[in-house]
Amino acid sequence: MIPHSATLAVNEKINARRAAGLPVLHLGFGEAGLPVHPDVAAALAGAVTENSYGPVAGTPRAREAAAGYLSRRGTPTDPSQIVLAPGSKPLLYALLAALPGDVVLPAPSWVSYAAQAQLTGKRVIGVPIPPEAGGVPDPDLLEPALAKARADGASPRILVLTLPDNPTGTQASAGLVERVCDIADRHDLTIISDEIYRDLTFTAHVSPATYLPGRTVVTGGLSKNMALGGWRVGFARIPDPALREDVIGIASEVWSSLAAPMQAAAAHVLDEPAEVNAHIAASRRLHESVVTAAHRIFVEAGALCRPPTAGFYLYPDLEPLRPGLNVTTGVELTDRLLDEHGIGVLAGEHFGDAPEALRFRVATSLLYGRTAEQRWEALRSDDPVTLPWIADSLAGLGSALARLG
Ligand code: PMP
Ligand code: GLU
Repeated sequence: MIPHSATLAVNEKINARRAAGLPVLHLGFGEAGLPVHPDVAAALAGAVTENSYGPVAGTPRAREAAAGYLSRRGTPTDPSQIVLAPGSKPLLYALLAALPGDVVLPAPSWVSYAAQAQLTGKRVIGVPIPPEAGGVPDPDLLEPALAKARADGASPRILVLTLPDNPTGTQASAGLVERVCDIADRHDLTIISDEIYRDLTFTAHVSPATYLPGRTVVTGGLSKNMALGGWRVGFARIPDPALREDVIGIASEVWSSLAAPMQAAAAHVLDEPAEVNAHIAASRRLHESVVTAAHRIFVEAGALCRPPTAGFYLYPDLEPLRPGLNVTTGVELTDRLLDEHGIGVLAGEHFGDAPEALRFRVATSLLYGRTAEQRWEALRSDDPVTLPWIADSLAGLGSALARLG
């Protein structure tokens, strides 16, 4: 059986609970939770009569816009290197299908990498993340893990990095990225750098493409920075022409092309007019304010948790509270959080973490409101955590955690 992806499954489970009238604090799903900017909606509406399939890799205009977006972020890119697709998720799958060898993943890392590796018949080599930040394997553990994998008959050839990271909500430092790149280069690993959260970092972002431009594939999209997950717009910068042709070949057999109106919307956003930049900047401030407040609540409750430095996730560890919890696994803990306290989160096991660890992912982005009006108000607020619907949710989280132990 091929299981339903854990992120999408928990979202459906929590929404069903809500539809049944049960109380729920939805911290389970990584949807950016913000309204569509009207100018972007207008760009899409203006393209609604575009009904040709178009080129598989994307329209020249959208590819040029994506190349400009990456080039302005310090990764010089030619439009010919860009492939657009309905989300970055299918591009990640196509890359794993096209590249030879097994996959090295930070542990924990986003749920779909390991699932896709399994679907493409690859082995996964999980390497723990360093204490400072997620999204990269601990450089001190990476080489021994590669040696062990080879001794076990695996052939590690691909390294997936998430910069900034889901699930930890952290941005790895330049020093960490550089050390990991050095090892990847010496061991002939192709890096897939998933940079879908790159516009949402609260600190400096660094891409492995800075150090290894020819060895690094960068993926990105509009799901997080512009909260357009349901529009399914993703892109990849694939410097190796042979790999690019393979990915385009897979695309041509699986999804044909990104929907034509979405290419126009993508081009509009990736050209970065002032209102797009302002919308992203406002959303980054909102994410930072709410995720930082939630972090404080977990720490005050006694959890261990890396301070968030990007995006809208936390990855708390309730190990210090274990004696009072009466659970043995992370899934038991998260089931209890949902069943007894109405708090929906996703256990670390889904991200490749140890089942017995009392760690889970918290997404704070669905706290901004249930209506477009509330979400706009949150975006425009100087102090969003004081808005009643956000303050109530955070207070509910604090009191549930206090009751837990
Ligand atoms: N990478 C990460 C780390 C994610 O959290 C997501 C969430 N959707 C994706 C990739 C896929 O995004 P999309 O397919 O919407 O571009
Ligand atoms: N990336 C989001 C998450 O981690 C959800 C969407 C998805 O997984 O495709 O929750």
